[in-house]
Amino acid sequence: MSSRFRCTCIRCRFSSLLGPVMLVTIGALFLAQQFTSYRFGELWPVILIVLGVWKVLQYMMPSDGHACPVTRQ
Ligand SMILES: [Zn+2]
Repeated sequence: MSSRFRCTCIRCRFSSLLGPVMLVTIGALFLAQQFTSYRFGELWPVILIVLGVWKVLQYMMPSDGHACPVTRQ
């Protein structure tokens, strides 16, 4: 049984999707390299754009019901 606390507010759940979104983005860039004339070296800034947009969206998400694991006893 895990005693690790996980907040389930919308913002924290959205935040936890960042890893999979980055993997999909990187995969899509390698796919684009296969099917277009663009090289990964030219497309990598898309990763920064996706990361930035994701962070802005995360900031805009409501944090109703957020429970910080550090202060929760
Ligand atoms: Zn939370």
